[in-house]
Amino acid sequence: MTEFTLIPASGAAVPAEPFTGRHLIDGLWKDSADGATFDRVSPSHGVLVSRSAKGGEAEVLAAIAAARRAFDAGDWSFSSGKSRSEILNRVADLIDRDRERIARIEVLESGKPIAQARGEIEGAADIWRYAAALARMAHGDSHNNLGPDMLGLVLKEPIGVAAIITPWNFPFLIVSQKLPFALAAGCTAVVKPSEMTPSTTVILFELLEEAGLPAGVANLVLGYGDPVGAVMTTHPDVDMVSFTGSTGVGKRIVAAASGTLKKVSLELGGKNPQVIFPDADLDAAADAIAFGIYFNAGECCNSGSRIIVHEDVAEALTDRIAVLSRKVPFGDPLSDATQVGAIISDEHLGKIDGYVREAQAAGAKVVIGGGVLAVPGLDGRFYAPTVVAGVTPDMAIAREEVFGPVLSVLTFKTEDEAIELANNAAYGLSAGVWSLDVHTCLNFARKVRAGTVWTNTWMDGFAELPFGGVKESGLGRELGRFGIEEYLELKTVQMRVARGRN
Ligand code: NAD
Repeated sequence: MTEFTLIPASGAAVPAEPFTGRHLIDGLWKDSADGATFDRVSPSHGVLVSRSAKGGEAEVLAAIAAARRAFDAGDWSFSSGKSRSEILNRVADLIDRDRERIARIEVLESGKPIAQARGEIEGAADIWRYAAALARMAHGDSHNNLGPDMLGLVLKEPIGVAAIITPWNFPFLIVSQKLPFALAAGCTAVVKPSEMTPSTTVILFELLEEAGLPAGVANLVLGYGDPVGAVMTTHPDVDMVSFTGSTGVGKRIVAAASGTLKKVSLELGGKNPQVIFPDADLDAAADAIAFGIYFNAGECCNSGSRIIVHEDVAEALTDRIAVLSRKVPFGDPLSDATQVGAIISDEHLGKIDGYVREAQAAGAKVVIGGGVLAVPGLDGRFYAPTVVAGVTPDMAIAREEVFGPVLSVLTFKTEDEAIELANNAAYGLSAGVWSLDVHTCLNFARKVRAGTVWTNTWMDGFAELPFGGVKESGLGRELGRFGIEEYLELKTVQMRVARGRN
């Protein structure tokens, strides 16, 4: 008997035939010229979920050329914000209509629980609507304070062709944090989803077509970082790269893009700390910490993977989290009840376990979990909800992104020490503080180096609020009104309004 709350195979039907993914280039669905394909086997169910065309240089070059032509033609880039907004709103409605279909494929390709996939698709539709609203509000500025003969205009123009490269952990949400803002700005795009989870992006492109997006404005190439991603980041006809993924690949992209000095926007990894002061509501903190580490099986840039708790309440808090770890429904991601699903790949499962073993060898204590679990009736890869206490700042598990359902517990004595520990990572994506004292919370919020700070809560997200990281967690911001600014360039026009010679 396991000490966890296992959800065995639910018997929910999986499709008999794999989903077929093709490229969409200049309005035409295409196989690869050489006929190459790649397969995705479900990490939770062991079945073949999708077979996708595997893009090579020919496909990515054709897609970039199509996006360039569509941009330069001006029909899209000079179209009214209203007309762009209407298309984006239609896409949002179609996403809502097809939510269940998209969610089920996302579950099978990624192993995430169906309830979380539904939430992701619903959130994505909301973002498409938010970007649709921005399309009508993005405009420049004028200066009539330059003297009697001069008028200045500051135009906000679309930056051009945007290359969009996305990871596997929230494939539908992340493309929706980029593409609608690029389109709202008047850019054209080439999109490459992760080779692990390509299919929901293919469905999105079907919906773009149905919504009436003109051919060539958004192009899709399926395949791997090499050559598809690599060509997208070096090609002179691409004006900007918007990338979400690992910090290692992000650094390679900055180097690759430097040859043509294209703009690069990066959403990268995190090792997100939460500091728990002794006056915190420990029950509320434990609930949010358990949610923050087990959501998406911890395969989440915003995973709250590192807690820094005052030593007086460390045991009480750790005990509460251990109780919740036993209770969190874990297993078949196609069951409505499940909250922790499968791990993306065997390789990644081994990496997660390696961090736990290494910490244990260095003297940390596994309070609960710490190993691979079998889910009855499923041929999948699952890692137990895991809490590791006695973690010290020098251990890899305290500084590196584990990207699994593994919580590290560190302790502190003084407020200064807590802030120093929180900042003791190369990353700076998000951070949290738990205290009933508003001054303690604000002091932390101001001193921690992170793009987002949550006080007495964790991982809420809103289309209205900008998101992004500092340090090695990224460059630039997505969402909020800044989401569209990333895809806009300023042009200054100086007009002499007096007649005659200067
Ligand atoms: P990854 O970096 O391995 O891959 C991301 C994408 O980059 C994939 O589409 C991949 O094919 C492509 N790619 C790989 N090599 C490339 C190259 N040389 N040039 C161009 N493209 C290339 O990341 P992953 O494993 O798919 O995703 C997990 C990572 O993403 C984690 O580090 C996570 O923290 C991060 N992430 C960050 C955010 C955020 O908003 N900050 C959100 C989600 C995920």
